[in-house]
Amino acid sequence: MAKIYYEDDVTTGVLEGKTIAVLGYGSQGHAHALNLHESGHHVIVGLYEGSKSWAKAEEQGLTVKTSEEAVRDADIIMVLVPDHIQKRLYNESIAPNLTESKTLMFAHGFNIHFKHINPPDNIDVTMIAPKGPGHILRDTYVSGVGIPALLAVHQDVSGNAKEIALGYAQGIGSARAGVLETTFKEETETDLFGEQVVLCGGVTSLVQAAFETLVEADYQPEIAYFEVLHELKLIVDLMYEGGIKYMRYSVSDTAEYGDYTSGPRVIDDRVRATMRQILGDIQSGEFANEWIAENENGRGAFMKMRQQANDHQIEQVGEELRGMMSWLQKREIPS
Ligand code: NAD
Ligand code: MG
Repeated sequence: MAKIYYEDDVTTGVLEGKTIAVLGYGSQGHAHALNLHESGHHVIVGLYEGSKSWAKAEEQGLTVKTSEEAVRDADIIMVLVPDHIQKRLYNESIAPNLTESKTLMFAHGFNIHFKHINPPDNIDVTMIAPKGPGHILRDTYVSGVGIPALLAVHQDVSGNAKEIALGYAQGIGSARAGVLETTFKEETETDLFGEQVVLCGGVTSLVQAAFETLVEADYQPEIAYFEVLHELKLIVDLMYEGGIKYMRYSVSDTAEYGDYTSGPRVIDDRVRATMRQILGDIQSGEFANEWIAENENGRGAFMKMRQQANDHQIEQVGEELRGMMSWLQKREIPS
C-alpha cells in the first residue's frame, strides 16, 4: 500500500523564512500561488516580461517578477509552465540563477524523469503533483478542504527534501486530503499511460468509433451522440463516487449483463497487447522523444491531428445538441 501523509505529518514551520517562486500563472500556477500566499507563505510569481498574467496576478494581491529574478530571490522554485516549455525556461532563466541549496520543484515528473532537465547535484529536487486541475485545487482550498497530491523526491541534498515538499503540500491545501508517496518514474509513466490509454486517447477513440458504427448503420447521429457520449458522464460520475460496483448497482440488470458479456469483447487480448506496447514506448522514452521532437519541429503533425479531430461529425452534432441543454455552461476554446 502507498504511504500517505496528512497534516499531522507536516513539520511545523518547515517553510518559515523561505521564499517560494511559482513560475507560471496558468491552471496550476494561479492555484499554487494564491493558496500558498493565503497559507501565510512568502510567494513570488515568476513570469516573462509582457505576459498577460502579470497584471492578473498583481490584481490578486501577489508579487510578480521575471522568472530570472523570482528564481534568484527564492529558496523554493516550483515550475508550473507547460511541460514542453520547461526545458527552455530551465536553461534560459532557472539554471543560471539556481544557486546551491535551493529546492527545485515540479508538478509532473516528465522533464526530470526523461532527463530533458538535468539539475545540478547540490540542490533538492522534489515533486508535489495535485491530482486535479488548478481551479479545483483553488476552489477546494477556499472552501477549507483540499485535493490529494503525489509527492516524490528525486534529489535530497539538504536531508529535508521530503519535509519541505510536505510543507509545500500543506500550503496548497493538499495535506488536508492526503499526500501519496511515489517516484518521478512512477508518476510520469503512469500519468502518460493513463492519459493515452484511458482518460484522453482511449475514451475519445472508443466514443468516436462507437458513434461512427451507429451512424454507418443508419442510426441518427443525434441519437448516437446521446448514447455514446452524453451519457458517459452519468456513468463516470457513478464510478467516481462509488466504484465500478456502484455504477453496476445503479444501472439496469440488462445493462449490467451486457457489460459483462460485451466489455471483454471490446477490450480483448489484442487491445491488452497494444496497451502493453504503449506502456513499453512510454517506459523506453520513445514517446517522450517523439513529443519533444514534434515540438522542436514546429508541431505540424500535432496541429494537423487537432484539426482533423475538430472536423469530426461528432463535434458538429454535439454543438447543436448542447444548445438544447440550457443548464450547460457554454465552453469556448480561445483562439
Ligand atoms: P498551463 O498551460 O495552464 O499554464 C502555463 C502558464 O505558464 C501560463 O500562464 C503561461 O502563460 C505560462 N508560461 C508560458 N511560458 C512561460 C515562460 N517562458 N515563462 C513564464 N511563464 C510562462 O499549465 P498547467 O496545466 O498549469 O501545467 C503546469 C504544470 O503542472 C505541468 O508540469 C503540468 O504537467 C502540471 N500539472 C497540470 C495539471 C492540470 O490539470 N492542468 C495537473 C497536475 C499537474
Ligand atoms: Mg495526469
